[in-house]
Amino acid sequence: MALSRSARWTAVATAAASFLAVAASSAPTQGAPGIGDTYFPNLGNGGFDARHYALDVAYDPDTDRLDGRTTLTARATESLSSFDLDLQKLDVTRVEVNGRRADFTRDGDELHITPHGVLREHRTFTVTVTYGGVPEALSGPIVFGSDYGWMKTPDGVFVACEPNAASTWFPSSDHPSDKATYDIRIKAPKGLTGVSNGRLVSTYDKGGSTYTHWRESRPMATYLATATIGKFDVKTGRTPSGIPIYVAIDPVLANSNTVDVYAVTAAATDYWSRVFGPYPFEETGAIVDDMPEAGFSLEVQSKPAYSAVRNETTIVHELAHQWFGDSVSVERWKDIWLNEGFATYAQWLWAEHQGTRSAHDSFLAGYDSRPADSSFWQTVVADPQRDTMFASAVYQRGAMTLQALRERIGDRAFFKLLPAWTHLHRYGNADTGQFIRLAEKVSGQQLDDLFHKWLYTAGKPAL
Ligand SMILES: [Zn+2]
Repeated sequence: MALSRSARWTAVATAAASFLAVAASSAPTQGAPGIGDTYFPNLGNGGFDARHYALDVAYDPDTDRLDGRTTLTARATESLSSFDLDLQKLDVTRVEVNGRRADFTRDGDELHITPHGVLREHRTFTVTVTYGGVPEALSGPIVFGSDYGWMKTPDGVFVACEPNAASTWFPSSDHPSDKATYDIRIKAPKGLTGVSNGRLVSTYDKGGSTYTHWRESRPMATYLATATIGKFDVKTGRTPSGIPIYVAIDPVLANSNTVDVYAVTAAATDYWSRVFGPYPFEETGAIVDDMPEAGFSLEVQSKPAYSAVRNETTIVHELAHQWFGDSVSVERWKDIWLNEGFATYAQWLWAEHQGTRSAHDSFLAGYDSRPADSSFWQTVVADPQRDTMFASAVYQRGAMTLQALRERIGDRAFFKLLPAWTHLHRYGNADTGQFIRLAEKVSGQQLDDLFHKWLYTAGKPAL
């Protein structure tokens, strides 16, 4: 994102107790309402692993009403007598598990589902939820004070959900540690275009509506899903290195658009593929919409979403996130610097590549301009706290950490480390400790002191 501008069993003493423990662990449970993230205790769910979402979304901008049906294919990680999905506010009319009607209750943002029979550990099951209503954007301090999520535009809707707004428009295990593949089908009034993740499977008009089917066949975090709808001019093709590209721009922006979004997207996708490793997705692109109130852009998987015309440095930032955030996703939200510090550092690398400013000078500009008593230095980058998870220090001090690392281990090790990281955790999740260990392995150096000073300690680090 960019702002413009176990319970572990203790040793069991007796054979009888051991037997009881085994018996207890195989009895069906009720799952868990959260995945264990201290910033968002109720996001994600325990007891199953989401594998594939089939989302059907019908949206009418005149009434602002969404009618949806979500079929989630999941694998039980324990025997379940019931389980939860996350869904904020919308009304649920029907739930089926493995094709049979299931009971459900609502408790805040939890949709608690009790299937007809027990779901056995390791078995795959499907849950289909039929729901609808008028989705509400979220607000509060988290996303630079802006609204975010499902946001109405003059001609449709702009959908950008980091960190916790996916469950305002589809029932899900709404946490980046539970990634899945997607089929997303959008029904909108004829003349509007539905833009989503991955590749376009089909689009056709029928009975006054336009139907669009997108498929994201690479694992995706819920917050990176979109179903942005509106009038769009679409340009498709391939980048110079051959990656398919799809750029949708709201036609009202045609005259104010001073950046060639298509050309910059193509060039940055190709350049990052050389620096960070092979491009992880089937298509690159952009969605440029007319939603200036949103004030931010988001690294929506395969097609970053820009809420207005944004500059080149924002585009290269969001595309760097395709590696850092989208392909390699955070295990817990406190690790968010692994997304934002890296995408900000990518902006410095881009300037270096363009010959306008070295990353060393970008580092010094950020370091020297902030006195030691600035509140900027008080953020602990490796655990910035929920409401300040997008604090500028997560971006800037995160990027400074990477430059400090580069100057310590040298260019050769540093530019080996970045693609090693994206390769090792491709399509998965990772945390800060894993990055530190990999940096030590690739460089052959002990780096605890550097990371302790830059990531885990409040205060301005001495150079
Ligand atoms: Zn970002």
